[in-house]
Amino acid sequence: MKSSVSIVRCPGYDVDRVLDGLRQSINLIGGIQTFIKRGDRVLLKPNLLYGKSPEKAVTTHPAIVKGMIQIIREVGGIPFIGDSPSIGSLTRTAEKAGIKAMADEMKCSLVEFNRPVLPFKEGGKIFKQLEIDQTVLEADVVINLPKWKTHAQMLLTLGVKNLFGCIPGSRKALWHLKVGDDRKAFAQILLDVYQIIQPSLTILDGIVGMEGNGPNSGQPIEMGLILASRDSLSLDQIACDLLGISRRTLLTNRVALEQGIGEDKIEVLGERVEEVRISNFKLPTLSQIDWGLPRFLSKALKNALTSKPIIDQERCKRCDQCTEICPPKALSNQVKDMVFDYKQCIRCFCCLEVCPEGAISIKPGWVLRLVGRKQKAVGN
Ligand code: SF4
Ligand code: SF4
Repeated sequence: MKSSVSIVRCPGYDVDRVLDGLRQSINLIGGIQTFIKRGDRVLLKPNLLYGKSPEKAVTTHPAIVKGMIQIIREVGGIPFIGDSPSIGSLTRTAEKAGIKAMADEMKCSLVEFNRPVLPFKEGGKIFKQLEIDQTVLEADVVINLPKWKTHAQMLLTLGVKNLFGCIPGSRKALWHLKVGDDRKAFAQILLDVYQIIQPSLTILDGIVGMEGNGPNSGQPIEMGLILASRDSLSLDQIACDLLGISRRTLLTNRVALEQGIGEDKIEVLGERVEEVRISNFKLPTLSQIDWGLPRFLSKALKNALTSKPIIDQERCKRCDQCTEICPPKALSNQVKDMVFDYKQCIRCFCCLEVCPEGAISIKPGWVLRLVGRKQKAVGN
């Protein structure tokens, strides 16, 4: 079947306008009744990476989740919200992100992912031992609700990347550790998770997205768009079109297309890409260039070829969230300063993701600085 993605304008988070925008976007791809039957338990998987207020654009906006709860109930579905934040409990994160108050108001339950199991049908294509949360596997329908943001390691976090949250808590760090600084292998994990879960519907919150130093410390950018699709991969490709970058720039797209997963021909419904293209969107500083060098040489030149995390010691409050999350324990809280062990560092940028003070940023390797290239220009 031909893959389709709908694009709808929605200028702000007024709940009625968002509800209207969601309805339009879903109607364009067949209507909610084509995804949900009466009595279905429907998991809503927002991006609840970290507990920050909705205006910071770190998490999926409560108005999107609220609208979906209403739409699902209209056809007799039973919605609930689930996720596994990078750090801290789901309840605390959801409180800060405005999701908890909305969920209480709507009498919709919040379920923390903390029951890792191997999928009962099929594991990952490459990574066979990927454990997904049981709640996800037991849901009759999964609706993926990503936020449109930049991502220091993977360039962007959209539909496919959002599902990484379905791997419970600390298991995420293990997978980071397993693939080390191999971004392509990490993209493969993301693709495997996507193929195991196969959400029925993906709706991208692109009303206010994040540009720059994402996924936690970038700047909000008003884009005024909602995208919807049955296929997260198609949706991610159209998001690249809207940013004016090659679809293969996003590594998850590239890995998928190389394996014949996903399509080049995607039908766009609603607004035309040319009419709503987002100009001057700031991508994150390039974290790595695929120079095509032999692995031993890439390893030897790691510091020159890749970006690395650095800390603004003045801003740092010594909360230790970064040291806790760091998969290889390459970061330590020492008497005078926070200190990185760059030989151990796998450039996953989880530390940057969780720092509540925005004290961690990315310093490009000297070769990267020299050539002054940004990911936007690379198309890798
Ligand atoms: S998370 Fe940020 S504020 Fe906390 S110790 Fe690390 S750098 Fe400092
Ligand atoms: S120091 Fe930061 S970027 Fe390096 S491995 Fe640890 S969490 Fe990842």
